[in-house]
Amino acid sequence: MSGLVDPFGREVTYLRVSVTDRCNFRCHYCMAEDMNFLPKPDLLSLEELDRICRAFIRRGVDKIRLTGGEPLVRRNIMSLIRSLGNHIASGKLKELTLTTNGSQLAKYAEELYECGIRRINVSLDSLDEKKFSSITRWGKLADVLKGLDEAKKVGLKVKINAVALKEFNDDEVDSLIEWCGQESFDLTFIETMPMGEVDEDRTDHYLPLSIVREKIENSWTLESTFYQTGGPADYLTVKETGKRIGFITPLSHNFCESCNRVRLTCTGQLFMCLGQDDWKDLRTPLRLSEGDDKLLEAIDEAISRKPKGHDFVIDRSNSKPIVSRHMSVTGG
Ligand code: SAM
Ligand code: SF4
Repeated sequence: MSGLVDPFGREVTYLRVSVTDRCNFRCHYCMAEDMNFLPKPDLLSLEELDRICRAFIRRGVDKIRLTGGEPLVRRNIMSLIRSLGNHIASGKLKELTLTTNGSQLAKYAEELYECGIRRINVSLDSLDEKKFSSITRWGKLADVLKGLDEAKKVGLKVKINAVALKEFNDDEVDSLIEWCGQESFDLTFIETMPMGEVDEDRTDHYLPLSIVREKIENSWTLESTFYQTGGPADYLTVKETGKRIGFITPLSHNFCESCNRVRLTCTGQLFMCLGQDDWKDLRTPLRLSEGDDKLLEAIDEAISRKPKGHDFVIDRSNSKPIVSRHMSVTGG
């Protein structure tokens, strides 16, 4: 038996795996500077993560994205990527991909390509060295640019993810589009999501993408495209550069109907919706036996609980985030 279909008839074919909640950056909207990370003994081993991924593949998942935290800072991460890459070679997986802050790409890009990865998402909110250091707290723009060069060199297609932030990078929208055009990168702007407590009030920098898009349309021609991912991004083409541009507006509900994804944390919690707190424990059934029956049963039960939509709200009367876990736990 295969195929994961939720109660609303949506087929779940896409698994996102946060392989670690740790990171070598501390982006302001994502983490507090002094973060409490998950206790190491709670983490699944890479072999266990691999086993869960394999169970999902048996159930018809054909796309896996590794994320985090920063996936490329987990020790030995390439062993998991190599193992998952075998499912690309066998044709069971259509796509294996990665969301990364780019800081380790200079080292890993070539190996990622060898493992069957063809496209990656790299998060980059500013092309100004000082602003980049200030938003990431611990990051260096030069490292990421070097990583991006290497990614291009080995043939990885890159999509840049930029979180749109008022009074931070709203003046860089045009330069980001221009630069992505020159480098041949697609670009997605993301609205800040109220996930996990950070050191500041997110509403201070909240910038609705409707405003960003309006500004872009003053200088660029956006043409509609038929490109659909089943995800929260609305994609268009920038006529002048020929590259794709996306807008991720998680606070709107317009993408839930086509949601095809679930998210696994590095401790084996399966979240059926990014914007809800309900989760299913996969670690216990995984460890109950060496066979996968219990694990597959747990996965099926979780999918039968996938909710219709999410409850994100960002407003000043509501100072606590609606979703208490940080994005680095479920990986965005
Ligand atoms: N470390 C990797 C990276 O930065 O790409 C992968 C994990 S990171 C949590 C995944 C994406 O989530 C990044 O593009 C990041 O900008 C975004 N992100 C993190 N916290 C967010 C928040 N509160 N609202 C919106 N996007 C957020
Ligand atoms: Fe790390 Fe990515 Fe979060 Fe930045 S957005 S702190 S790079 S996990």
